[in-house]
Amino acid sequence: MDYYCSAKFTELMVHVQSRLLYNCCKAYPERVDLDWLEANPGRLFHTDTMLEDRKLMLDNKSCASCHHGCYKYEEQGLQSHRQTNKQKKQILDPNAPLKSLQIILSTDCNLACVYCSPEWSTAWYKDISNNGEYKLDGLTIGNDQWSTLYSKLKQKNRSTETRFFKLLLNEIDIAKDLVDLTILGGEPLLHNQLQKIVETVNDKKINIVTGLGVSDNRLQSILKAMSGKKIKFLVSAEATGKYFEFIRHGLQWNDFKRRVEMITEQGYEVKFISTLSNLSFFDIHNFYTVYNDRFEIIPNFLTSRDFMLPHVMDEQSKDLCRENLKPLNGVLSNAIEKKPSEFDRKNLANYLKQISKRRGVDLGFLPKHFLEWCGIDKIVSL
Ligand code: SF4
Ligand code: SF4
Repeated sequence: MDYYCSAKFTELMVHVQSRLLYNCCKAYPERVDLDWLEANPGRLFHTDTMLEDRKLMLDNKSCASCHHGCYKYEEQGLQSHRQTNKQKKQILDPNAPLKSLQIILSTDCNLACVYCSPEWSTAWYKDISNNGEYKLDGLTIGNDQWSTLYSKLKQKNRSTETRFFKLLLNEIDIAKDLVDLTILGGEPLLHNQLQKIVETVNDKKINIVTGLGVSDNRLQSILKAMSGKKIKFLVSAEATGKYFEFIRHGLQWNDFKRRVEMITEQGYEVKFISTLSNLSFFDIHNFYTVYNDRFEIIPNFLTSRDFMLPHVMDEQSKDLCRENLKPLNGVLSNAIEKKPSEFDRKNLANYLKQISKRRGVDLGFLPKHFLEWCGIDKIVSL
C-alpha cells in the first residue's frame, strides 16, 4: 500500500472543548499540552506526534492515527476518505505550513444525527443521560467524563474563554500560510461567539459547517449580522423526506429546505457534505435530484459506525441502490459491493431497534426486505 496522504501535511482539526488535535479530521486525535504550546508558539501543527507520523508516511509506513481514519478501511477493501479526496501535489516537508484549519467550537447541538455521538452533540448527550447507553457488540455509545463536565459549564467558559482558545487564536494569527478556516460544532450557529470569531480571522476564507438545527429567526439574524463577509456554508445532509428526518433527527425536511433557501437568498455560497451510509444510500439519489443542479455535493465517508457503512445491507437492497444510483453514472455504487459481515448485520439490527424505540420512530419507511434481513419485525407505531 502507498501510505502517503497530503492531508497529513496541510490539514488540522481542533476540538476546543476537549483540547484534541486531529491531523486530519478522519485521523485519531492527540491531546494538546498547553504548557508546551505556550512555550512553543507556532507549533500547533507540528507536535512531535505529527512530525513523527509525517516521517513514517514519507518512509511509506503506516501510522496509528491514519490507520484509524483510512488504512483499516482500505485493508478491508472499502473506500477511504483519502481515496476520495486525493490531492495531486505531494508535499515532502514534515514541517510544511498549515493550510486548512477546522475548529470545533463547542458540542452544543439541537440535533441527534444517527451517526453522531455525545462527543459531538449535546442532544446526544441528553439522550444518553435520559435513556442510558447504547450497548452493541464491541461498542458502547455513552457519555464520557468530558461531556459530563462540559454539560455543567456555560458555553463561553468551556470554549472561547479558555486558555487553550486564546492560544489557538494566537496560532491562527501566526499561521501566515493558512488559507481557510472551517468552523464546526456541534452546531456553530448556536454559538454566541461565532460572529466575534469570524471578525477576528477576517483575512482568511471562512467556512461554516452546519446541520441547520436552529430557528429561522436565529438563522436570519446571523445571516444579516455577517452580511458582506466571504463565508461559505457547508451544509450536512444526504437524504430527503422521512430518510432525512430519521438520519438528521430533530429537524424536519421542509424546515431544512426553507433554511437552505434563506442562506442562498442572502447571497452566501452553499455546498453540501453528504455522509454515505447504508441508510442514506436508500435515498441519496433523491437528494441529488433536489440539489445537484444548483449546488456541489461532497461525499463524506463514515469512520465511526462500521455497521452503518453503505455495504451493510441485503442483496435486494443493493440491487435497488444500484438501480437508483444509475443516473449518477455509477458514482458511489462501488461503496456497496463488499459483502457485509454477520457481526455488522447484528449490530445494525440492534442499533436500529434501540434507536427507533427510544425515539419513538416508525421504521416502516425502510424497505421491507432490508428490515427482514435485519430481523426487525416489530416496528414502533407512532
Ligand atoms: S486519516 Fe486518512 S485522509 Fe486523514 S491524513 Fe490520514 S490518511 Fe489522510
Ligand atoms: S448536526 Fe452535526 S453535531 Fe449535531 S448531531 Fe448532527 S452531526 Fe452531530
